Amino acid sequence: MSYTLPEFLAHAIAMEEEAAERYLELADMMEAHRNDDVSAVFRDMHRYSIMHRDAIRARVGDTELPKLKSWQYRWRTPPEMGDEDAFDYLLDAYNALQYARTNELRAMEYYRSVVGETDDAEVRRLADEFADEEREHVEALDKWIGRTQRPSATWQKDPGPVS
Ligand code: ZN
Repeated sequence: MSYTLPEFLAHAIAMEEEAAERYLELADMMEAHRNDDVSAVFRDMHRYSIMHRDAIRARVGDTELPKLKSWQYRWRTPPEMGDEDAFDYLLDAYNALQYARTNELRAMEYYRSVVGETDDAEVRRLADEFADEEREHVEALDKWIGRTQRPSATWQKDPGPVS
C-alpha cells in the first residue's frame, strides 16, 4: 500500500502517541515495584516519543489528517500472553522491556515497509529517518534486556504476594 503524506504523518503521530502512553504506564509500574533503573529507561523513552510526536505535528501544521483505526497503531501484548495475564506479566522488568522491544521493532518494520512501498519521495525520506530512530530504540532496549535478569519459571507460575 502506498501512503500519501497526510496518511503517513497521521500514522506516525498515532504511533508516537501510543508509545508515549505505554511508556508512561510502564515507567509508573516499574517505579511502584522499586525498579528505578528500568523506570528511568521508560521515562526517557516516554520523553523521546513526546518530542518526536511534537516534531511531526509541527511539520503537519494545518494539514488535515485522516483518522486511523486503533489496530493500526496500538501496542500489542506478546502473543504468548492472554489479555488478563498481560498486566502481571508486565510487572517484571525483563518482560516489560521485551514488550516495549516487540513494539519498537514493529514500528521499525512498519517504517521500513513504507520505504519499500511508497511512490512519494518525501514519505520515503521521512519513513527512512523514522525507521533509523526506531532501530536505535530497539538497540537501547536490547542493552537493558542484556542487563536485566530473566524471570524464573516458578516466578511466572506464581508471582507470590506483592510487597
Ligand atoms: Zn520508538
